[in-house]
Amino acid sequence: MVTVGFIGWRGMVGSVLLDRMRQERDFNGFRPIFASTSQVNAPGPNVGVEVPPLQDAFDIRVLLKFDIIVTCQGSGYTKKVYPLLKDAGWDGYWIDAASALRMDPDSVIVLDPVNRDVIDQALSSGIKKYIGGNCTVSLMLMAVSGLFREGLVAWLTSMTYQAASGAGAKSMRELVAQMGAISSTTKNILQDPNAPILDLDDAVTTAMNSVVFPTDTIGAPLAGSALPWIDSQLDSGQSREEWKGYAETNKILETGAPVPVDGICVRIGSMRCHSQALTIKLTRDVPIEEIEAIISGANDWVQIVPNTKEASLDRLTPAAVTGKLTVPIGRIRKMTIGPEYLTAFTVGDQLLWGAAEPIRRILKLVLDHLGG
Ligand code: NAP
Repeated sequence: MVTVGFIGWRGMVGSVLLDRMRQERDFNGFRPIFASTSQVNAPGPNVGVEVPPLQDAFDIRVLLKFDIIVTCQGSGYTKKVYPLLKDAGWDGYWIDAASALRMDPDSVIVLDPVNRDVIDQALSSGIKKYIGGNCTVSLMLMAVSGLFREGLVAWLTSMTYQAASGAGAKSMRELVAQMGAISSTTKNILQDPNAPILDLDDAVTTAMNSVVFPTDTIGAPLAGSALPWIDSQLDSGQSREEWKGYAETNKILETGAPVPVDGICVRIGSMRCHSQALTIKLTRDVPIEEIEAIISGANDWVQIVPNTKEASLDRLTPAAVTGKLTVPIGRIRKMTIGPEYLTAFTVGDQLLWGAAEPIRRILKLVLDHLGG
């Protein structure tokens, strides 16, 4: 029986992955073993089948026993362990949520509703590295891959509104702690309906800029604010998150001639849904009805939201989309700039299609491929 080692299952992406696998009753037909970088020998998670105590995720002798490794631990772990494992002769399947190996020539970025053809070809040609994509890129493609497939995208900009969950479990905790700190310092003012509004405003600003405001993980106040930089700085002036838009979109779609994709990536104080405002230069003027049909026909999860205030506020917000596999896209209209300029707004749960779901599904595809 195929042995699958799970690493990083306690983190944000890993927890959602396990949840989805439990929901879909995926834990059958293979032997799951769980490893940890910090809790060796503790009991493994409850996944409905018996599992041994946690193994040491840094012990290469342990990892060598796994036919498939699924890791949601992070790039630091991948960079440290993957080369050692290969040097030790391991020839299994490496499935990873982290970005470290995404752009390797012998890896595939997995998003099967969008690039199943690329995945199938890779499996039959013996490729063994399958990496989940960047969350905003995956969600953008779940929303508009139909337009790319029809050759309708001359270029695309994505202005993002990214949730704290994109930065991991600790950032989500810190965002809520920041909200709590603001709430506790303003409680008395809020209780008095006649309190001057500038007192409330001052109290919030003072709390956010105080040295005791919790910012150890995020690095800045996020509750009540917005952070226009995600990931590291590149010489191009882009953030690394922005660079991924171009690099990963074109790799996932295997575009012959790369399509320009760029934008500004911004962290906002939502918990776990990434939103994106898209501007698309179409290669030709196509009626909106046709565009909507192409978008909604691309996969089973994308959903068009009518371009009305009521529908947008009801169905096109992080609060409405959190926990759902559907990827709504709305505010679709031609811009006043000209008939070839399309704008749209899309929201997706970045822990589902943005992270865990492509990993869950590629594991199934690899197991099927191995006859497991
Ligand atoms: P994370 O929540 O920070 O978890 C990573 C690891 O941190 C866990 O597996 C756990 O390892 C350890 N950890 C330490 N304290 C923890 C705590 N209080 N709660 C839970 N885990 C704790 O990271 P992540 O957001 O899942 O991201 C993992 C990888 O996926 C990263 O490379 C990230 O870039 C990538 N990714 C993330 C997203 C996303 O939306 N977050 C999307 C796409 C890709 P031990 O159990 O071994 O201690």
